Amino acid sequence: MALISGDGSLRNLTLEELEDAAHRQGEKPYRARQLAQWLYKKNACDWPEIKNIPRSFLDSLRKQYCLCSLSMSSRLESCRDHSVKYLLKTSDGNFIETVLIPQGGRKTQCLSTQIGCKMGCLFCASGQGGFVRNLSCGEILDQIAFVAKDTGSLPTNLVYMGMGEPFDNYDAVVKSIRIANASWGFGIGQRRITVSTVGIVPGIRRFSEEGLNQIKLAVSLHSPDDAVRTRLIPANRKYNIPEILKALEEAEDKFKRQITFEYLLAGEVTDRDEDAVELAGIAKMIHAKVNLIPCNSVLKEFRPPAERRILEFQKVLEKEGIRVTVRRSAGQDIAAACGQLRLQEGSVKRET
Ligand code: SF4
Repeated sequence: MALISGDGSLRNLTLEELEDAAHRQGEKPYRARQLAQWLYKKNACDWPEIKNIPRSFLDSLRKQYCLCSLSMSSRLESCRDHSVKYLLKTSDGNFIETVLIPQGGRKTQCLSTQIGCKMGCLFCASGQGGFVRNLSCGEILDQIAFVAKDTGSLPTNLVYMGMGEPFDNYDAVVKSIRIANASWGFGIGQRRITVSTVGIVPGIRRFSEEGLNQIKLAVSLHSPDDAVRTRLIPANRKYNIPEILKALEEAEDKFKRQITFEYLLAGEVTDRDEDAVELAGIAKMIHAKVNLIPCNSVLKEFRPPAERRILEFQKVLEKEGIRVTVRRSAGQDIAAACGQLRLQEGSVKRET
């Protein structure tokens, strides 16, 4: 089992667990709700900020927990689109990234779920840096509290698309979603939360049974061809396209939101007309929509597709009745593809 060393954050605890902690100290259950107010409404990151709770209770908590397990390593703001990338240090000296992307009236925060990643995707810096460990639920939620403290307000939307594969750290991710969504927690609506997976089939099946059916599920497909997809996403060897589609078909009616396929458009690798036709067929099977992501020049292995090719690809899908959006990566000038900053800064610390 992977070592978890972020268990010390108080945001690992549900309201029930906070009530148990209060009970053990001879405190009334309402103290847990007061504490939750400080953790999720006021984003307290230092003990002296907490005012209306008995010092003896706080002192006992302080012996076991911290209010924020993360500290700032660096903060980069894009001069192009004002997205902000934070490189944060964990209590055991590792580094994770989170990005805040302002767009229209929304502020979307992209969360990391692991330090590094086992999936090894060819186009991803996190995959190249290897895997260190899972993040705890508290470390996932501390990313939200930390950034809210820095900016003065909570994000409106959350995407579990940062460093790591969310369904490879299933329990901590689902617990963090429940707390982020809870009225006593950050209170972020399920419809404003997206979980992105490379297609971990048991994770898709389990997640469809969680009752979190307003959450948006995004699957990184990136190619309709198993051989090409295996090159891009080695995890495809274990869970190939037919298996993923079977799981999605079975789960489709349990999700109230349309499933999204994320699709990386790489010149002459995934951007041919025949790819578009096959992709349309797959998307139709599960009534999915498609997010096209033209690869950028940071990805050395691939050539960005020409603008005309992107539009032609989009047209083929639309002609087949598929809903398509083209997503330009935010913060390209600040290395906002997951894991890039951590690699660039040489801040990859391996477990020994
Ligand atoms: S793209 Fe996602 S799943 Fe693939 S290596 Fe990167 S972080 Fe992991």
